[in-house]
Amino acid sequence: MLSFFQTMNSAPAPVKPKAVNLLDFDRKGLAAFFAGLGEKPFRATQVLKWIYQEGVEDFDQMTNFSKPLRAYLHEHCHIAAPEIVVEQIAGDGTCKWALQTSCGNRVETVFIPEEERGTLCVSSQIGCALACTFCSTARQGFNRNLTTAEIIGQVFAAQKRLGAEKKITNVVMMGMGEPLLNFNNVVAAMNLMMDDFAYGLSKRRVTISTSGVVPAMHRLTEVCDVSLAVSLHAVTDELRDQLVPINKKYPLRELMEACRANAKIAPRRTVTFEYVMLDGINDSMQDARGLIKLLKTVPSKLNLIPFNPFPGSIYRCSSSATINRFKTMLNDAGIVTTVRKTRGEDIDAACGQLVGQVEDKSRRRFGNRSTGSERAA
Ligand code: SAH
Repeated sequence: MLSFFQTMNSAPAPVKPKAVNLLDFDRKGLAAFFAGLGEKPFRATQVLKWIYQEGVEDFDQMTNFSKPLRAYLHEHCHIAAPEIVVEQIAGDGTCKWALQTSCGNRVETVFIPEEERGTLCVSSQIGCALACTFCSTARQGFNRNLTTAEIIGQVFAAQKRLGAEKKITNVVMMGMGEPLLNFNNVVAAMNLMMDDFAYGLSKRRVTISTSGVVPAMHRLTEVCDVSLAVSLHAVTDELRDQLVPINKKYPLRELMEACRANAKIAPRRTVTFEYVMLDGINDSMQDARGLIKLLKTVPSKLNLIPFNPFPGSIYRCSSSATINRFKTMLNDAGIVTTVRKTRGEDIDAACGQLVGQVEDKSRRRFGNRSTGSERAA
C-alpha cells in the first residue's frame, strides 16, 4: 500500500544563463576546468569534497577558496542537480522519485533500503531507444541522453532527501535507458560515484547494466572498472532477437566474447547475467540447460528477475515453482543463482517499470498510462 504520496515544489530552480554546472565534471574534468582559470589542480578535489561529501551548493560556504575565486564561481558557475518533484514511498520502504531537469523533463530514480545496504537505481536516459519487448520504458520511445549532472545529480538529490541516517551504499545503472548508449556522461558520473573525494563507493558497489551494446562494452572494459551486469534473457539468437532486439546487431557470440573480455580485467571477477522469467517463453528446462552451457563460458553469476507486468504487456511471469526449479538447476550446475526480490511493487518502482514522462506522441502511440508522477503533476 502507498503509505506516502506527496507532490513537492514543482518549479525547477532558476537556471543561470550559460552557467557551467560543476556537477557535469568528474575529477579530471574539474582539474581541467580549474587549470583553465589558472588555479591549481587541487581545487578539483576541494570542490568535490564540498559538493559530494559536505552537500554544499553555495560557493560562499567553500571557505578554503579565495574570495576572487568564489566571486568568479558565483558569476559563472552553478551546482544544479535535478529536483525531486514527486515522492512515493512503498510499504516496504522503497522510494521512487520523479526528478525534474532544468529543461522540464522528468526522470525516475528508485531507492531500495535493505538491512545492510541502500541501493539507488539510477536512470541514464529519458526513455529508451532499444525496444525490449518486456520493458515498459521501451514503450515510451527515446527522448534524450541525460547529462553527467543529471545522472550524478540523482545520487546527490536522493542522498540529500534521505539525510545522513540513510546512506546510499550501492548504485545500479538499471533505471530508465541504456547506459552504454550514453557512454561519456555515464562514465563520468560513475567516476564520481567511485571517487574517494566524492562518494567513494567501491567498484563492487557500482554496477552498470547493459542490454548488450558490444562495442561500448569493450570500451568500458578499457576505461572504467565497474561491476558489469548483462541483460541476457534468452540463450538462442532467435529468441533474443525478439526479446532484446539489439541482439540482431550484436548477437550472442559477440556478446559473450565481450563479457569474457570484461571478466579478464581482474582475477575472480564475474559478470552478472540478468534473466527475466517469462512464462512459456524462456523458462523451459531446455532454456535452463542452454543457460548452463552459455554461462559456463564466462565467470558468471545469474540473477533471475520475476517479470513485472504492466498494462498492455504481452507476457506473464513464470510461476514460482518454475523459477525455483530454474534456480536449483543452475545452482546445481555450479552457477551462483539468485532470484531478485521484487521491491516497491505498489508504486510501480520495480525493475522495468520506470516510465517517467516523455513526449506526448510516444504516449499516444501506446495508450496513455497514468503513473504516480503523472497523477501528481
Ligand atoms: N538498459 C539496461 C538497463 C535498464 S533495465 C539493460 O537492459 O540492462 C534494468 C533491468 O530490468 C534489465 O535487466 C531489464 O531487462 C529488466 N527489465 C526490464 N523490464 C522488466 C520487466 N517488466 N520485468 C522485469 N525486469 C525487467
